[in-house]
Amino acid sequence: MRMAIGAVLMALLAFGWTSHTGLVSAAQPEARPFGLPFDTAPGPSTWLLGQLYGNTTGAYRTRVVWYGAGQGLHFGLDFPARCGTPVVAIGDGVVIGVDDLSHGAGPHNLIIRHDDRYLSLYGHLFETPDLRWGETVTRGQIIGLTGDPDVTCTSRPHLHLEIRSADFAIAYNPVNLIAADWDALMLAAPFGRGFARDLSDPRRWQYADDQPDVRFGGALLNDYTQPWPLDWRP
Ligand SMILES: [Zn+2]
Repeated sequence: MRMAIGAVLMALLAFGWTSHTGLVSAAQPEARPFGLPFDTAPGPSTWLLGQLYGNTTGAYRTRVVWYGAGQGLHFGLDFPARCGTPVVAIGDGVVIGVDDLSHGAGPHNLIIRHDDRYLSLYGHLFETPDLRWGETVTRGQIIGLTGDPDVTCTSRPHLHLEIRSADFAIAYNPVNLIAADWDALMLAAPFGRGFARDLSDPRRWQYADDQPDVRFGGALLNDYTQPWPLDWRP
């Protein structure tokens, strides 16, 4: 009986029945046009998913100091990886920014325009990418190496990945645009305890795939009067 239950559980897992988000890669990968920014499998010796996009507790704590321009949300995904881990383009496109730090995420970054709708930004890179403005890149092509925003490679080495509108004005949730098994990726290595709650509307923005778009320069979305965890303004 125990084996039968185990088999059923495995089957349910395989079909994603345990998913809270509905983001099961086997069910709807075609709807999401981009791929992951790495061409290796996730793991402790390669890369992991550390922070989701959106109303994360980490972004909440630094919503004014770090993320004020992005309405207080973490407007990308963070992937912890050793310095020097190869990063690949998430889609075909053209390079429109090399070390364009007006969009942040230093010490080095790269920006690719994919079409009329989307850009991708790869931040905290180890060194200036060996690419030029106007150069064409293809999905899966190595476009840089991961680094550390603190430039130590021991502090918090990770890739910060954003997907924005073609005019840079809006950041979209990459989870809804990148085909991946996000439920599995979320099981390991999160930086914090998930999403901040507004106790006057505690169910809002609590899942990986229901985070709002960020309009740069707009008002803070999470300046809660009744937050949980407790308010903390550095
Ligand atoms: Zn980040």
